[in-house]
Amino acid sequence: MKKLIFVTGGVCSSLGKGVTASSLGCLLEARGLSVRMVKIDPCLNVDAGTMNPYQHGEVYVTDDGAETDLDLGNYARFTNAVADSPEVDVTIVEIGGTVGDMESIPFLEAARQLIHEAGKENAVSVHVTLVPRVSGGFGQRGILGMVRAARWARENRMPYFGICLGMQILVIEYARTVLGWADANSSEFDQETAHPVVSLLEEQVDVRNYGGTMRLGRSESVLKEGTRVREAYGTASIHERHRHRYEFSNAFRADLEKAGLRISALTPDGGLVESCEWPDHPWGVGVQFHPEFKSRPVAPRPLFAKFIGACTAYGGK
Ligand code: GLN
Repeated sequence: MKKLIFVTGGVCSSLGKGVTASSLGCLLEARGLSVRMVKIDPCLNVDAGTMNPYQHGEVYVTDDGAETDLDLGNYARFTNAVADSPEVDVTIVEIGGTVGDMESIPFLEAARQLIHEAGKENAVSVHVTLVPRVSGGFGQRGILGMVRAARWARENRMPYFGICLGMQILVIEYARTVLGWADANSSEFDQETAHPVVSLLEEQVDVRNYGGTMRLGRSESVLKEGTRVREAYGTASIHERHRHRYEFSNAFRADLEKAGLRISALTPDGGLVESCEWPDHPWGVGVQFHPEFKSRPVAPRPLFAKFIGACTAYGGK
């Protein structure tokens, strides 16, 4: 039985349904399957060339000179699908518009019936929706929940990859649970704590003043041998980008290390902690830098590849 994938969108337009559908096509082709892309839309864009590109996206020009919908451009550039290929392994159907619009109800009903007829093993629906952008790890934003999630991952040997605030959470959790410092926190969230295990550099006494501004952009980290980060990068010196104000507090470095926390990367002068890891754990890594800025879908930074590998191994158990 040939497979069917329906892609729908919710909340509002321009969510990236077309890119999602095209990316699915690209991934399936990478696995050796043939795909066909179909777009069904309640609004027929007769002349995409005259439509507002801010609302509808840029036009895509075909060989015959047609100014077509952007989705066609995504399909054509992400996949090798040809419109009239007779037999394919997977047909990806993108339903235009937003679920809830009365114009697309017949398409949604048709999809429902087709999924019912084909059976769940042969047909799936993928819904793309809006996640309000809780962007960046700054300010109070459910820190306690994050600390609990980190503890659960550590104690249940589930892979954990903490980036920037994610590393700071890893440190706070370790200090609270393993060292028993219930009030351990970042001074960003609690100014009064007796255990500011993450703090601004100017709040730390034994470090020269770097200033209270954001640490931004490319800098070098030195990776220690025998650590997960070193294993991932395969080299002692790396350059990644930073975007944060708070740092692992050096005043508590010795206590945390004695309690088992593995400090796995430092700045070349040894002054700042760039990465730490859980001991005796399959894959629990926190990094103060942001490897996502230099990562690409087809060329991921090593830590992403290793993390996904650890998740796959965990899921396979
Ligand atoms: N708020 C934290 C800091 O400034 C973490 C920032 C981040 O996650 N980018 O250090």
